[in-house]
Amino acid sequence: MLRTHNCGELRLNHVSQDVELCGWVQKSRDLGGMTFIDLRDRYGITQLAFNMDSNPELSGVARKLGREFVIKVVGTVKERENKNLQIPTGEIEIIVKTIEVLNESITPPFTIEEQTDGGDDLRMKYRYLDLRRSSVRSNLQLRHKVAQQTRIYLDTKDFIEVETPVLIKSTPEGARDFVVPSRMNPGEFYALPQSPQTFKQLLMVSGFDRYYQIVKCFRDEDLRADRQPEFTQIDCEMSFVEQEDVLNMFEGLVKHLFITVKGIDISSLPRITYDEAMKYYGSDKPDTRFDMKFVEMNEVVKGKNFKVFDEAELVVAICAKGCADYTRKQLDELTDFVKRPQIGATGLVYARINVDGSIKSSVDKFYDETALKQWAEKCNAQPGDLILILAGNKDKTRKALCELRLEMGSRLGLRDKNTFSCLWVVDFPLLEFNEEEGRYFAMHHPFTSPKPEDIHLLNDASSLGKVRANAYDMVINGVEVGGGSVRIYDKKLQSRMFEVLGFSAAEAQKQFGFLLDAFQYGAPPHAGIAFGFDRLCSLFGGADSIRDFIAFPKNNSGRDVMIDAPSTIDEKQLKELNVAVIK
Ligand code: ASP
Repeated sequence: MLRTHNCGELRLNHVSQDVELCGWVQKSRDLGGMTFIDLRDRYGITQLAFNMDSNPELSGVARKLGREFVIKVVGTVKERENKNLQIPTGEIEIIVKTIEVLNESITPPFTIEEQTDGGDDLRMKYRYLDLRRSSVRSNLQLRHKVAQQTRIYLDTKDFIEVETPVLIKSTPEGARDFVVPSRMNPGEFYALPQSPQTFKQLLMVSGFDRYYQIVKCFRDEDLRADRQPEFTQIDCEMSFVEQEDVLNMFEGLVKHLFITVKGIDISSLPRITYDEAMKYYGSDKPDTRFDMKFVEMNEVVKGKNFKVFDEAELVVAICAKGCADYTRKQLDELTDFVKRPQIGATGLVYARINVDGSIKSSVDKFYDETALKQWAEKCNAQPGDLILILAGNKDKTRKALCELRLEMGSRLGLRDKNTFSCLWVVDFPLLEFNEEEGRYFAMHHPFTSPKPEDIHLLNDASSLGKVRANAYDMVINGVEVGGGSVRIYDKKLQSRMFEVLGFSAAEAQKQFGFLLDAFQYGAPPHAGIAFGFDRLCSLFGGADSIRDFIAFPKNNSGRDVMIDAPSTIDEKQLKELNVAVIK
């Protein structure tokens, strides 16, 4: 090896030892008689010292080293006179005897420091330099740890890691597929998997019993901060289990990850139904770091000649603790917030419960003090609290109030990134009606089992929306980190499901014949889940974007600006692939 130690490990107990270190020149400081260099590698930074008086020649060489030169030094560990207790190696320095330049560097386009002068785009283009920065590197170290601990947990539970193919078949359900032309099969295409769903189910038919895979998945969707066209899942499946078993097994995984990666002991995950989540939080992924549950107000507000409330399907409130002193300006801000097109409310009604107990609302004309007292009671509002109310169509109003609740949570500092609140959302609807397409879609995916007690509802077109699924999501801090379901394992029921989704028997056979066929050969009851691995890592790292936890991510337009992909390919290649580009 070219070194005896790394740049993060020398301490006072190494004083007087001769050592060899390799690394990058982070910074050099020239203080007349002394020159200091910060030598950096993955493990840390060690200070190198050069004395002009005792070794002028070597000091001269040191002064000429540029930023990011790769060097090897031989020297002796010495206790520092000016200690830097901010860094682990800050009590020592190396009195250098020889320097060898292993490679030079041109001046990097941005400083490789925590507070870098490089903007987002520049850092993406030179991602390999950005990855030298300790914060970015430590995100990937965290990722490594989460992957390792996942494997440890699942291995102890007898899960087998099996790889499934990346070149598969395009399916019409779900998101858009990335496709790959096949040179050997002109006019035909593979698709990249959106998830290994059908393969893991086939592995259950094969008797693997417990499967997992930390696996790349691909979805050609519009991108957002927390989405990437290729992303990683912790994908799992189990045989001979019921929903309860899956919930317990993977609650165990998340607890294991929290304790081993974050040192946090989380308690058992509460479970709420989809209907409750929508009713109390207006979302199927509620942020439960704070309470502020919705209070439905219909019964206390209707019939007082206030048209907005009288005509609304739903009038629903939240109570913001201690916000009665919000100024006019702050309330106007909140009104503007809910009226933004993305949120779409028509207005905001509020009532202040003043500290002296009096109540003042924005609709005093219609509601006297007695009526307002009823509001306060209903919302369990105390003196000093502020009630915020939205009204209108049920679904839209819930969605808008969900946004307002999150906004209030943020304003009140209730969404701390280092606080974690996990829960299961269960009993999702099986199907979801799509107005544009005029048909039902599977809310999770077409392989999800209806609740046995709801199966009869599948026989009547008018009750399809009422069928509940044995499907579940794990939500942490308002982020859906995992989702899964108990699967259909009966050919007849699976065929009925395809029928409900608008597939003809022939289409179902063409698309999913392999699975329907497999179900005829003794398919065991099975269920599973997949976690968004990148999201889980970013959550553990206290970040909003998953990009910082992926070594080489794509930008918001799905491009890798470092290697410049996607890119055109030449005519010859296109011909060989039988692909014509339409311009
Ligand atoms: N394959 C599903 C998904 O990607 C997860 C599952 O049902 O296991 O969302």
